[in-house]
Amino acid sequence: MKIAIVGFALSGFSFLKSVIDNKKSDNIEIDVYEKASEYPAGLPYEDDSLDKLLNVDSDEMIYPRENKDDFKNWMKDNNKKVDPIEKMAPRVYFASFLKDKAKDYIDLPFVNIINEEVTDIGVSILDNKEIYELKTRYRKSTYDFIFLASGASFYQDPYKLSGEESYIESPYPLRDKLKDIDNDSSIAVIGTSAASTDVFRYLMNNKNLTKPINFFTGDNEYKIVDIPYEGNIYDKYSLDEARIKKALSDNEFIDLDVLIKRIEKDFSENGFDLRYAYETYKDHSLDLSRKAIDENDQALAFCEDYFMQFTVFAADIVNNLRPQDREIFMDKYYKYLIFLGGKTPYESMKLILKSYDEGKIDIITNTHSIEKTSDGKFFLKGDRTANADIVINCSGIETNLSKVSEKIPLYESLLSKEMIMADKDGDFIAVSWPRLNPLSKKYGCLRNISITGMMVSGTDIDNNDARCIQKSAKRIGKILVDDYNL
Ligand SMILES: Cc1cc2nc3c(=O)[nH]c(=O)nc-3n(C[C@H](O)[C@H](O)[C@H](O)COP(=O)(O)OP(=O)(O)OC[C@H]3O[C@@H](n4cnc5c(N)ncnc54)[C@H](O)[C@@H]3O)c2cc1C
Repeated sequence: MKIAIVGFALSGFSFLKSVIDNKKSDNIEIDVYEKASEYPAGLPYEDDSLDKLLNVDSDEMIYPRENKDDFKNWMKDNNKKVDPIEKMAPRVYFASFLKDKAKDYIDLPFVNIINEEVTDIGVSILDNKEIYELKTRYRKSTYDFIFLASGASFYQDPYKLSGEESYIESPYPLRDKLKDIDNDSSIAVIGTSAASTDVFRYLMNNKNLTKPINFFTGDNEYKIVDIPYEGNIYDKYSLDEARIKKALSDNEFIDLDVLIKRIEKDFSENGFDLRYAYETYKDHSLDLSRKAIDENDQALAFCEDYFMQFTVFAADIVNNLRPQDREIFMDKYYKYLIFLGGKTPYESMKLILKSYDEGKIDIITNTHSIEKTSDGKFFLKGDRTANADIVINCSGIETNLSKVSEKIPLYESLLSKEMIMADKDGDFIAVSWPRLNPLSKKYGCLRNISITGMMVSGTDIDNNDARCIQKSAKRIGKILVDDYNL
């Protein structure tokens, strides 16, 4: 079987590893296409300043749970230390870990690394068999199976500033994009996500800015702080693989009532209430983070750790609910956990609060316009206004399929051939679960192409998480090996 992997970062490597670890035959040839010269790394972990830190602990990066300490142990063995102040690992170390683990797989004689961008994929169906034709600028090849792991698209441009001078459309690599910033510049950052925390940290550690940084954001100031939980969540979280399997062996679907009761029981048995954290902290203000830190709020900490565990199983659970129950679950119950997505690391939040108190940063909510003025500056309007010499965009990755395909040739080719279509409201790509095969009106379901990553997070929900990415890629590798007796 001829397999192509498009994109060789966390997802592409996890799939390659799964196929090779599970395969029993030699009837296999794998071409791995990667457009970047560094691999396996990907945008989050690519070579950059050590100021770029993981937004979760090192033992929350690896799936499955029994291997959770792999990265942490690798750091120890390789004498790599967490950031002394924020206590998180630099993200580039995770790429070094991946490169180390990938060596033996890349060197296998039936694995070919092709350092080129895939710009076009087409399909023809002969006698019910799908044959894929893949093109780069320099070559054209056919495959029996494609694993499309091209990951994050690009940063959104909500204020249509692309191309404007002094507008930094994407903050990465930090050390290239931010190094020339003058200390006397007035800087505005769009967004208060993990990327904007990277920008904040880089500027604080590498510059002596004379003016405060203005963060322009939506209706919430800064994602709530991640309070360290003093208990052991693994003893307290019960909705794991075994329980999901059991629920599905008894019934075709997961029962919504049983699911809700199980989650509520996990909370109540530990003396907490599922609704508390949401009701108390959903506004994500700096004052609320300050309160959580001052009180060492263990009820919030429990909910955060619970959500960290739930995330790994969220897509399995949600996709195995009856459709009408799924809507109810997402609208009425999931909000109690999902609001914690992208929370701010504990020590990072302490630094942010300190900088805020010292007047080094300011946060302006409800941003509604940013315009370039005739003197070459930016005028930003939210609840308050500000001028800036430089605007750094950290507004989030684009997932609208039309917009993505306008800029990325590969997606344009798939969309124009009707091999893919958008999921809900134009966002994401519609795929089946758990094979992540694209759905379309023209082809129905293309069974020999699987798509992972952010562009399928309408189905592989909450997969903006290293463990979820590994889980889906690993599972699809195993399905492929089993289906074709590889
Ligand atoms: C800025 C950022 C920070 C994050 N930080 C964390 C974190 O701290 N912890 C965590 O758990 N999760 C984090 N995540 C979630 C992250 O999405 C996953 O951890 C994971 O890196 C996604 O892996 P991926 O392989 O799907 O995609 P990516 O890492 O985006 O990799 C895609 C790869 O495909 C290649 N590629 C793309 N198109 C083509 C093409 N046409 N031809 C050839 N190659 C191509 C790219 O060069 C890249 O190497 C972060 C995400 C982002 C965007």
